[in-house]
Amino acid sequence: MAQLLFKDVNKVYPNGYHAVHDFNMEIKDGEFICLVGDSGCGKSTTLRMIAGLEDITAGEFYIDGKLANQMSSRDRGIAMVFQSYALYPHLTVYENLAFGLTLEGIDADIIEEKVQATAKILGLTDYLERFPRALSGGQCQRVAVGRALIRKVNIFLMDEPLSNLDAKQRVTMRSEIKQIHRSVGATTIYVTHDQTEAMTMSDRIVVMKSGGYVQQIGTPYELYFYPQNLFVAGFIGEPPMNFIRGTVEGGKFTASGLSFDIKPIVKDVKAIEGKKVVFAFRPEAIKIDAQKDGYVVTSDVELTELLGDTTNVYATVGEGEENVNIILKVNPHHTPEVGAKFKFYIPQNAAYLFDAETEQVIESDISRH
Ligand code: ADP
Repeated sequence: MAQLLFKDVNKVYPNGYHAVHDFNMEIKDGEFICLVGDSGCGKSTTLRMIAGLEDITAGEFYIDGKLANQMSSRDRGIAMVFQSYALYPHLTVYENLAFGLTLEGIDADIIEEKVQATAKILGLTDYLERFPRALSGGQCQRVAVGRALIRKVNIFLMDEPLSNLDAKQRVTMRSEIKQIHRSVGATTIYVTHDQTEAMTMSDRIVVMKSGGYVQQIGTPYELYFYPQNLFVAGFIGEPPMNFIRGTVEGGKFTASGLSFDIKPIVKDVKAIEGKKVVFAFRPEAIKIDAQKDGYVVTSDVELTELLGDTTNVYATVGEGEENVNIILKVNPHHTPEVGAKFKFYIPQNAAYLFDAETEQVIESDISRH
């Protein structure tokens, strides 16, 4: 197992593109970390710097307290699983699993033992004599994970390992990878653009934005309930958080047709008087029963989607030009009619304010619990 430390790590590619800016983080022994963000935000670059496949342009990277900037890939104690499984097509599952160990010159009976043990963990025992072409996508992915797992390493790196699988297989593999992590305990860095994957698997998540800027590092709980800026607020959660732009006038959030007393939800309302702000709330946080401390909103229903356990309601608030689209999640038994007015309440502890200019959250003392 290994502890990792990044100090102002930067990556500038030879063509001058600055792909990662001042990456700072300490990763504890055995942690499961997801790097998440849209395509091109620098996730793979960061992973490849950890693996030693890309040089670090500036800053320091430590493994277990040892400066590792110049350490060779082989000495880092790393195994990597790629998006493309990179299996050898002409080798059986057994041979694919055994390949690295054979190269290292390990005794055949020890290899046999390790292959069998790894195959058992991954449910591949019955497939050891098959070739990759005779396996499903999920089974190929398991062999790829198995190849990494069979070598006793301290750090597991995974780059979008599930993106070639269908939705159902992804859910199954997600929990399998978590279980493997629990039993193996290796420090794991997992790259994905899928926020659900990140939320369900991680101890902590690093949210990155295009240009290679870290937006926030935190547990899934922290990112969901305490987003530090608009980017994270909009990235985490599905459907995304609702944003209504307005201004603070006389201690009230004011937008077309809306006026909310925001004193209870911000630390220092005077400091934001006159400012342009964004009022935000999650689709699933609304209530249809009157709330003692809730903001009351009347919306116009445009479309509803019954998903089974919930209904997504697409609605608008405000008038004319300043009309804002919002999404609400409601109990399917209380699905409103399209074209009707729909009144709902936003509990104060589910309401957020962001500075429209800096995009940072406006400090609040309110407990989200
Ligand atoms: P992600 O994994 O988040 O999709 P990457 O780390 O692969 O993003 O890439 C980050 C940015 O760096 C992208 O804009 C990409 O085009 C650029 N990039 C990646 N590799 C190179 C390279 N070898 N030379 C120049 N730019 C690169």
